[in-house]
Amino acid sequence: MSAYRVAQVAAAGGSFEIVEREVPRPGPGQVRLAVEACGICHSDTFFVQAALPGVRFPLVPGHEIAGRIDEIGEATPGDWQVGDRVVVGWFGGSCHACPPCRRGDFIVCENLKVPGWAYDGGFGEVVIAPADALARIPDAVPSADAGPMACAGVTTFNGLRRSSARPGDLVAVLGIGGLGHLGVQYAAAMGFETVALARGADKADFARQLGAHHYIDTTADTPVGDALQALGGAKAVLATAANSQAITATVDGLSPRGELIVIGADTEPLGISPNQLLMQGKVVRGHPSGTAQDVQETIAFSALHGIRPMIETMPLDRADEAYRKMLSGAARFRMVLTTG
Ligand SMILES: [Zn+2]
Ligand SMILES: [Zn+2]
Repeated sequence: MSAYRVAQVAAAGGSFEIVEREVPRPGPGQVRLAVEACGICHSDTFFVQAALPGVRFPLVPGHEIAGRIDEIGEATPGDWQVGDRVVVGWFGGSCHACPPCRRGDFIVCENLKVPGWAYDGGFGEVVIAPADALARIPDAVPSADAGPMACAGVTTFNGLRRSSARPGDLVAVLGIGGLGHLGVQYAAAMGFETVALARGADKADFARQLGAHHYIDTTADTPVGDALQALGGAKAVLATAANSQAITATVDGLSPRGELIVIGADTEPLGISPNQLLMQGKVVRGHPSGTAQDVQETIAFSALHGIRPMIETMPLDRADEAYRKMLSGAARFRMVLTTG
């Protein structure tokens, strides 16, 4: 193979086009992946629309990359072998030099290398990635399922396990879309009394299929906070819906010292007053995904508990159609591009 295909966007807000490129060699500390699948994340819009600093065009997004190592650069750390099946997610490597990295807190690296931002992402047949970004995929997990776990999966799994909630506690997951449908499955498997919150009564059956013990329709007459308090109050709310108003509505449903974990990306301010937090010591915090080791643990946990993302695959050639479908909200949870 001397050439490979990518789906790229030539300018901000443009459409995806398929172009051929020359196959690169991995440099020191890097591997080359033959991409098998790459999930489309809502965060890819930040790059396509150039809504973040430093986005360069032509742009190849994609940070839910699953593939096989097909070449290993010199002096690459770790026991990686050609043929190993791995994923690269939002954590696409860190700088090892900034203060957070020097403290060992790599996911908040000031120079975090997100694929599709710092380097070409997984909307293509080949990706060059640093070795510290790699997470192994167990044999039981297909590549198309593993890709979304490197962003959607690890963000929800890690958000829950790093929370102050413990088995038996009431934990609510707001939204049961691309992130939330995984969050509900993880919450139930971790032993939380799990509440799913979503719009409309029609999603109750689906929420229960995912393992939710309770379902709250956020469009019902009873305020969400009251509905959560009627269940005893939530020790943690994992807010996956990218909707500040819906996120804000959950604060009054937290128990004393309860925690609102924000992972749904919205640019609108949260409408929370200090008084809603003060008396009962409530906490609001953002949660940033997870490192490659976190991703590996997410996929291992998923394999152990039979947890899978719900996906719809499309070949790389149809990247533009798949991206538009994700944007339209018509996608069946996670669009995943496949090669070959
Ligand atoms: Zn993502
Ligand atoms: Zn760093």
